[in-house]
Amino acid sequence: MLKKYIIANWKMNLNLAETLSLAKKFKEKFAGFNQGEVVVCPSTLFLIEVNEILKGSIIKLGAQNVFWEEVGASYTGEVSPEMLAEAGCRYVILGHSERRKYLSENYEIINKKVRAVVKNEKLIPIVCIGESLKERKTDRRDFVLVEQLEQALSGIEVFGDQRIIIAYEPIWAIGTSTALEPAEAEYAHKIIKLALNDIVGMQAVSKNFSVIYGGSINSKNVKSFANLEDIDGLLVGGASLKIEEFYKVAKSIVK
Ligand code: PEP
Repeated sequence: MLKKYIIANWKMNLNLAETLSLAKKFKEKFAGFNQGEVVVCPSTLFLIEVNEILKGSIIKLGAQNVFWEEVGASYTGEVSPEMLAEAGCRYVILGHSERRKYLSENYEIINKKVRAVVKNEKLIPIVCIGESLKERKTDRRDFVLVEQLEQALSGIEVFGDQRIIIAYEPIWAIGTSTALEPAEAEYAHKIIKLALNDIVGMQAVSKNFSVIYGGSINSKNVKSFANLEDIDGLLVGGASLKIEEFYKVAKSIVK
């Protein structure tokens, strides 16, 4: 059975000193923890230094974004999949709803990024999908999820043991302290897995895909997510900034 993922998204919360201090705490606290795959995603700027700290630990490094081209003179300010791999990353978050909101990232762009990351083969993409409150209220959630998956994964071919993680993050549940009802999350994950079956085929889904949940998870509400069959892990924002809180989340979900 695959280990559950517990992915910390530190967003743009921490300065250099705070980032390095938290990375050290993660390394100490998770020494010997082998029930789950723990990933930390600091700011791009601090990846190399966090990688140095995490050497010799079980914690993997992830980035919060990437560009879709490999190299080039026309991409000022961007970072390629290979550059992230060189910095020590094993994972990369793609199409987070905050990027969709503030940077107008759409699923055409996200698809380019997913393709580039899959092609690079050194990184595991964490592809974010999720409905807005309006879409939820108008009963369009299932349709929206299927459409986002179809667009994000268009033309993707996975080979061998390559992994793709889909992070289901209802936009209205991110950073709000209102997590989705576990039963509802379970249902949404079933819809996602069924849609994936149609898009990439059942065999690839069970071999190559994981579906995780994100949105206001904390040490209290995590317990009701722990027994849900279709939830392969968690993407955690706010609760990943405090080591004790994040450790409790991780312990509860892998139990
Ligand atoms: C996120 O931003 O991916 C997230 C899940 O944040 P939070 O846990 O704070 O809702």
